[in-house]
Amino acid sequence: MAKDLYEIGELPPLGEVPPRMYGQVIRSDRLGEPRDAFRIEVLDTPRPGPGQVLVATMAAGVNYNQVWAARGVPVDAASLHARYGEPDDFHLGGSDGAGVVWALGEGVTGVRVGDHVTISSAQWDPDDPFVRAGGDPAFAPSFRNWGYESNWGAYGQFCLVQAHQCMPKAERLTWEQAAASTVVGATAYRMLFGWPPHTVQPGDVVLVWGGAGGLGSMAIQLVTQAGGRAVAVVSSDEKGEYCKRLGAVGYVNRRDFDHWGMLPHWTDAAAFGRWMEGAKAFGKAVWDALGERRSPRIVFEHPGEDTIPTSIFVADAGGMVVICAGTTGYNAVVDLRYLWMRQKRLQGSHLFTDVESRAFNDLIAQGRVDPCLSRTFRFDELPEAHQLMAENRHPEGNMAVLVGAPEPGLTGLPA
Ligand code: NAP
Repeated sequence: MAKDLYEIGELPPLGEVPPRMYGQVIRSDRLGEPRDAFRIEVLDTPRPGPGQVLVATMAAGVNYNQVWAARGVPVDAASLHARYGEPDDFHLGGSDGAGVVWALGEGVTGVRVGDHVTISSAQWDPDDPFVRAGGDPAFAPSFRNWGYESNWGAYGQFCLVQAHQCMPKAERLTWEQAAASTVVGATAYRMLFGWPPHTVQPGDVVLVWGGAGGLGSMAIQLVTQAGGRAVAVVSSDEKGEYCKRLGAVGYVNRRDFDHWGMLPHWTDAAAFGRWMEGAKAFGKAVWDALGERRSPRIVFEHPGEDTIPTSIFVADAGGMVVICAGTTGYNAVVDLRYLWMRQKRLQGSHLFTDVESRAFNDLIAQGRVDPCLSRTFRFDELPEAHQLMAENRHPEGNMAVLVGAPEPGLTGLPA
């Protein structure tokens, strides 16, 4: 007999949608540290509208954007949902997931009930005139990140996606591996290959901040695959060795330097001089890690305020600093003399298109890029996984949480 609600790790018969489901929910009145902000709640199961697909989430990936959502910084994610006609009194997030297609909305083609999928998180309005005219969807006004700017993300037993977000799950991967890396991997893919002429070429030196983190672990592998030479920046030798195992030619430990933060004003000669000493020493450390005096053609940035002055300084003449976040702060203070005289480029990058996420998913499916799953959590441990991330105490690579999968290690539905 059909049930009203299934327990975590339990699935209804294929295609049966229970009226209610569990989710790890954030609400505006309890924003704060992740361990307090998330709570398991029972919600009405969403139904797919035209062009939408309901997916039974088997596992979800852990992303930094849910740390932002838990803290309500820079925005309360729930407040973003009303403009898309979604409930805005809660936020059910999660931008990475893998699962089974469970129900189809009107007009969906190319996806069938029972398909095993990995979800790509970039969404846009398919009727957006800009997209219809062939524009890059990532520049469209309707472009948004599923499970952050939208509700019904992967932290619920069922999640709601647009049909084009469903990519084939690599059969040999477990659910938790398949869920772990798409957001960071596809974002890294666009950063490294989406901004010509600064696409990674054989022999290019690429400096990768946070090399052992989610984005960084993917960037090192993508650079190496393209024949580039990645130098990682990390905060411990253990993390540096991890980056070398992923293919980095060397690493710099940022704890050996203390010139971080916003650039001192150029009129303050003493402070500026101290900063310049630190930046030059860091640049030399990059050369030492590389084994030659060549500066990075691409600097892969996301810490932001603390590191951007150094990134601009160490990039090679004609090189690019590409940035997708400002985790340490949003004020990018740049010494323009280095930017114009040495003709460097500071490029913003955000998420990815379907072409980019599928190119990344193919590399994962072929085993050429590893999703770097380091730890799998139970559903009730999801707040703790985010707390570790918020405190930069999480393990290297990526983390995942089991939702519908009753145990780790499953590549398909339980027998
Ligand atoms: P992560 O797994 O936590 O990795 C970030 C790494 O940054 C850490 O491993 C840490 O490595 C390093 N780090 C921490 N504090 C630092 C500091 N003060 N200076 C230099 N490095 C520091 O997170 P992630 O998944 O890679 O995401 C990083 C950021 O990118 C987050 O803000 C996330 O929201 C954002 N993001 C944006 C997009 C987009 O499309 N816009 C997509 C994905 C992620 P060490 O301590 O070893 O240096």
